[in-house]
Amino acid sequence: MSRPTLQLYNSMSRAVEPLQPLDPAGKRVSLYVCGPTIYNYGHIGNFRTYVAVDLLKRALTYFGYQVDHVMQFTDVDDKTIRGSREKGMPLKEFTGIYRQAFLEDAKTLNIEIPARTPNATDHIPEMVELIQKLIDKKSAYVSDDGSVYFRISSFPKYGCLCHLDLSSLISGARVNQDEYEKEGIGDFVLWKKWVPADGDVGWDSPWGKGRPGWHIECSALSMGHLGPEIDIHGGGTDLRFPHHENEIAQSEAATGLTFVRHWFHVEHLLVDGQKMSKSLGNMYTVRDVLERGYTGRELRYALLSGANYGKNLNFTWQGMDDAKTALARIDEWRKRIGEAAIGAPALEEVTNASEQIKSIDEALSRDLNINDLLGILFTWIRVSNKALDEKSLSAAQAAGYCLAYDSLDTILGLGSAIITIPAEVQSLADQRAEARKSKNFPQSDELRKAIEALGWKVKDTAKGQELSRA
Ligand code: AMP
Ligand code: ZN
Repeated sequence: MSRPTLQLYNSMSRAVEPLQPLDPAGKRVSLYVCGPTIYNYGHIGNFRTYVAVDLLKRALTYFGYQVDHVMQFTDVDDKTIRGSREKGMPLKEFTGIYRQAFLEDAKTLNIEIPARTPNATDHIPEMVELIQKLIDKKSAYVSDDGSVYFRISSFPKYGCLCHLDLSSLISGARVNQDEYEKEGIGDFVLWKKWVPADGDVGWDSPWGKGRPGWHIECSALSMGHLGPEIDIHGGGTDLRFPHHENEIAQSEAATGLTFVRHWFHVEHLLVDGQKMSKSLGNMYTVRDVLERGYTGRELRYALLSGANYGKNLNFTWQGMDDAKTALARIDEWRKRIGEAAIGAPALEEVTNASEQIKSIDEALSRDLNINDLLGILFTWIRVSNKALDEKSLSAAQAAGYCLAYDSLDTILGLGSAIITIPAEVQSLADQRAEARKSKNFPQSDELRKAIEALGWKVKDTAKGQELSRA
């Protein structure tokens, strides 16, 4: 079955484009995602972005790509330093608490943790090296305040991501904070000279003791781990300016190459239609949601469904209840259809699965169209439940639904892909376990063949036999 090409919205070109990996073999996709600043527990808005990235990563894997995924933890910036001082803790110990909390929350939401999750402070020499390169190329300068700044006028493409009009720029204006508004554009800081408020946080550099700016962290880590050009770079929409704009400037000024082929931005999560903020009392962590009696799965479902990643998503407690109801419906159906599939013949005879898998492929390839994916799933549920009520669904058709759902769930990550093992297969597997125990390998081989003839595969692992559909 030929598969459609994955089409994704690229916020640089502002168009949906086919993904064309840099890898000449078309197999590997490099994905860099801006990680959290670890000075507090992540809120559910942050996790909307990471759940959406997880959907992207699972979709890439589903389409057969080998995903090289890196996400850094920002463990040094104004906020982390301020937080550690307020708590009277060393920076590393303070940020370590929130790094661990993030990983736990990600696990609660069944987010696949990227293979590489470097801490920014473990890569200061690479940042220093990159800044030096920019100084050598006259794209950066040491200012009279002792910090190092990127010279925006040296990079004519500056503003390409956000389509900024730089004609009104005040030449020579500088910004020393990591975050600022578009009205405050100026040469931005790459290396901040140490000040007493930094306490014992600081590293030696050719420009004296100091620390990196936030933006240079991601340029150095992305290029250090994935090379000067990557396929996809992602984050929440608020990172477009100034963070990603600055990352492009730093990286491309240093290498002369196109830093990123495809920009993936996730729009914001709103709560009851409003921006989340501490003062409105509507900023919830994953832990707050669990405390109200919901599960991580239900929150994952609520964050995934409702709106495509490119649109704002409105979080409500009613939405959480709807997620609970929807998941209960999916689970109940998956159990029922699994039982109806018992005794199904070998998979070649499962005729309806390829049609269903084709519809998943198509919806997913249209910019990860979650509404269509869930629409397809609930249509399967409705149609097959009706057929089961009317006793008109064969075991082979039921097995097709199981196969299609389990495949869809590798992307949704809801974890309701219960594999129902037919009693006949289980009995053969039990006999085989006995045969292996008594070292009767010829009999064990015979039993393996009998299991395979029923359309199942058996794998011997340290934990015993594992059965899966062939
Ligand atoms: P931060 O720790 O502030 O760097 O944020 C981590 C990630 O969460 C970034 O990709 C942000 O863009 C993203 N983010 C922040 N607020 C929201 C929100 N309300 N909805 C979705 N993503 C968000
Ligand atoms: Zn970043």
